[in-house]
Amino acid sequence: MITKVSPIIVALDYSDTNQALNLVDQLDPIRCQVKVGKELFTLAGPQLINALIDRGFKVFLDLKFHDIPNTVARACAIAADLGIWMINVHALGGKAMLIAARESLAQYSQAPLLTAVSLLTSMDSTTLEQIGLSGSIEENGLRLAQLVYEARLDGIICSGLEVPLFRQSFGKNFLLVTPGVRPIGTEAGDQKRVLTPKQAMTNGSDYLVIGRPITQAKHPMLALEAIELEINEEKAMNNEERL
Ligand code: C5P
Repeated sequence: MITKVSPIIVALDYSDTNQALNLVDQLDPIRCQVKVGKELFTLAGPQLINALIDRGFKVFLDLKFHDIPNTVARACAIAADLGIWMINVHALGGKAMLIAARESLAQYSQAPLLTAVSLLTSMDSTTLEQIGLSGSIEENGLRLAQLVYEARLDGIICSGLEVPLFRQSFGKNFLLVTPGVRPIGTEAGDQKRVLTPKQAMTNGSDYLVIGRPITQAKHPMLALEAIELEINEEKAMNNEERL
C-alpha cells in the first residue's frame, strides 16, 4: 500500500552542504519531500541524509543505480538501512537488475519506494542511435516503462508529457514522478519540455520534482506556497467536475 504525502519534492542541487541545509531550514517537512542527487550525496553522504531525516524530511535519494543485479540490490538495501523514502535505478539495467532491486527491499517493513528512470531527458534520437537503440524516444521510453511495470517496481520518473500515456497504460497504482516542472513566470533554464505544476497534476503526475523555481527563489517557502495553491486549485476544479 502506497501512502501519499505532499506531491512536491524539492531537488537539493547544491555543491555546498551549508547552502543545502540553509534552504532546508526554510522549508516545512510536512509540505514537501527533498531530493538528494549525485552531486550533493558525493559531497556530503549519509551524514547529510541523517541530518535531513532528523529534521523530519522524507528523502528521495536520486542516485539512479545502474550496475550488475547483485551490486544494485546491495546498494538499495543500504539506502533502505539509511531510512530513505524513495530511491531509483536505471531501467536500462534490465529486468534482472530491476527485480533484484525490488527483492532486496522485501525484508524491510518500511522499504523505500523503488522507482526507475526510463530514458534520461538529456537523450535525443542521436543519442539512441549512438548506443544502438532503434525506434523513437517515445517507443523506447514506453518499452522501458513497461519493463519497470512488469518488474513490479513502485513507479517511474518521467516527463509530464509522457504521464497521460503511462497513466493509461499502467493504471493508478503506478507512481509517476515528474521533473521539468516550471510555474508560470519562472525560467526554464536547461529544461526543454517543461510543464506547469497544474498541467503536470492534470496530466496525472503523483509527484513533482522541482528544483530551481524553489531553491533559487528569494523566498523559497513563498515559492512553494504558490505551487501548492496552483495544485490545490487544480484539485478543486477536478472535484467540481466530478460533482
Ligand atoms: O531545477 P530543476 O527544477 O530543473 O531540477 C530538476 C531536478 O530533477 C534535477 O535534480 C534533475 O537532476 C532532476 N531530473 C530531471 N530530469 C530527469 C530526471 C531527473 O530534471 N529526467
